[in-house]
Amino acid sequence: MEIILTGTGSPLPDADRAGPSTLVKAGGTHILVDAGRGVVMRMAGAGSLPGLLAGVLITHLHSDHVCALNDVITTHWVMTQGNGALPIFGPVGTAQFVERQIRALEADIGYRIDHHEVLTDPPRVRITEIEPGDSFAVDDVQIATAATEHAPVRPTVGYRLTHGGSTVALVGDTIPCAGVDELALDADLYVQTVIRRDLVEAIRHPMMQDILDYHSGVEEAALTASRVGAKRLALTHMVPAPTPEQYPEWVARAAEHYDGEVFIGDDLTSITV
Ligand SMILES: [Zn+2]
Ligand SMILES: [Zn+2]
Repeated sequence: MEIILTGTGSPLPDADRAGPSTLVKAGGTHILVDAGRGVVMRMAGAGSLPGLLAGVLITHLHSDHVCALNDVITTHWVMTQGNGALPIFGPVGTAQFVERQIRALEADIGYRIDHHEVLTDPPRVRITEIEPGDSFAVDDVQIATAATEHAPVRPTVGYRLTHGGSTVALVGDTIPCAGVDELALDADLYVQTVIRRDLVEAIRHPMMQDILDYHSGVEEAALTASRVGAKRLALTHMVPAPTPEQYPEWVARAAEHYDGEVFIGDDLTSITV
């Protein structure tokens, strides 16, 4: 499998980092996890496109993780000329969110159906709402799920993808918890959204202080990776976003608690497992 960090940003706007999303290429099967700001542009950079997706997995309905899902849906619709249904998996609430997105696009959908003879129907999606613990397959990729802990955001769900004997855990925004341990157990790669606790604490803004209680710090992600025997750790959704000169310091903080390889990088960082 090739795992490409298509968006390493967070809600904080950044000229160089798209919002949170990760693309998994398992053989010829392309699966997108979350759909943050700029995701379709980064998919193009990663050698993929919405029309090629076998499935979209949503971790939770925080806007930074789903704000560009409408772009994925409409681009998939136009690229497949309305012939394909886009499978979308996510926690309870996903169906209503997607239906409302499509309703918001009503004018555009009408214009395109009127103008293009080949387009006869609105975008087709196939939504599956996940109960944590569910497992399912997308093509020949096996997917396990577990509840994560991002209170007061509920429900939130993390994913473990297995293909060709390799495993990647993509757990979204969460503090360390039993669900993350289960998903990342012995994984070839564990991808965790993180904050730098020390740096966020220093930003004396109430909304920044609020985020401290529902994210993993870099050290916590490293401790989880070590505890469950994950072979590699990739950090994403980094708050505050580091400059390349600061990457070694972030990696060093993780390495204090974890012996495996730690990845940190720009958008389109690619890791093969
Ligand atoms: Zn979140
Ligand atoms: Zn987030």
